Amino acid sequence: MIRMNDFLAEPPELRAAVVAALTRVAESGYYVLGPEVRGFEEKFASWTGIPHVTGVANGLDALSLGLQALGVGPGDEVITTPMTAFATILAITQVGATPVLADIDEGTALLSLESVQRAITPRTKALILVHLYGQVKNMPQWVELCEQAGIHLIEDCAQSHGAKENGVHCGQFGAFGAFSFYPTKNLGALGDGGAFCSTDSDLVATVATLRNYGQTDRYHHDHLGANSRLDEIQAAVLSARLSWIDQFTRRRREIAGRYLAELTSPPVTPLDSPKQLDNHVYHLFVVTTPHRDKLMGHLAGDGIETLIHYPVPAHRQRALPNVATDPQGLGNADRHAETCLSLPCHPGLTDDDVSQVISAVNSFPG
Ligand SMILES: *Cc1c(COP(=O)(O)O)cnc(C)c1O
Repeated sequence: MIRMNDFLAEPPELRAAVVAALTRVAESGYYVLGPEVRGFEEKFASWTGIPHVTGVANGLDALSLGLQALGVGPGDEVITTPMTAFATILAITQVGATPVLADIDEGTALLSLESVQRAITPRTKALILVHLYGQVKNMPQWVELCEQAGIHLIEDCAQSHGAKENGVHCGQFGAFGAFSFYPTKNLGALGDGGAFCSTDSDLVATVATLRNYGQTDRYHHDHLGANSRLDEIQAAVLSARLSWIDQFTRRRREIAGRYLAELTSPPVTPLDSPKQLDNHVYHLFVVTTPHRDKLMGHLAGDGIETLIHYPVPAHRQRALPNVATDPQGLGNADRHAETCLSLPCHPGLTDDDVSQVISAVNSFPG
């Protein structure tokens, strides 16, 4: 069976480092907001080059606490994509703001600049750009659009650890970047975790209080915060795993490179890849085909697991009736949801696994 993720196939040295981290915390007697969290925040800041980092409980909280810190709330609109993990939308609704969905580009499934422009109204306060599948693209254009519109640019980096444009790591092009360390992400914990990152030290300091009941000094509360602390145990695991991420990203790119070069089945089209290797970390390798469900069944028959990211776009979710959209609709997002399929692309795949996936796809009759 070739799986979408295979944690047990990870190198034994990494397993040993993770177990050593668990033991270190268990024997430290310090379990919440201690030296491991501070140590990981510093390591993640130096690895990304983003000056200020605060660990939080998950990626959703990194987004919603950031929106709260920016003062986004009831009556405000936040534009984002319907083709994302639903957490992106929940961050907006959790602060009482109104999500407005713009359409995606067909070639990349990333937000369309023209569609976002059509979705801006006088009430728009922010744009959440999702670096979907691990790709960072056209950041100077997005920065300029948000500056001209007078709205905050927010980056959802839950899928894009390590992705850079022109040498700049994602998460620092706008007001803040939100990272998730859910186990399947490119940098994952042994449970939940997240990070709020920004070049703005005051904003990060505010989120650092919000994650801990909004308290500034012990039992003194300046804000109505949340309980969104990163555990010492998860921070220690993340520090160990951070040492491996560059190697894992290289392997993801190698696998994606083979798929791009060797997938030749006419009815199966990979999404557009960037010219610069740095822009994409291939959290997911996504193809589209008009016969998606048949392809999924064909691959399953060859022992290859695939997944759909995402089968139901946000505007078709029952939890979100009558959501506001680009007035011209979300046709590309609807089409993508019906035709996209994610192939296995994790760093534990062997060359032989990759060859098996390629020959299985290439033998798909359509
Ligand atoms: C995973 C993910 C999130 C949410 O992260 P959690 O840590 O699960 O809260 C948000 N946005 C995107 C694009 C994601 O992939």
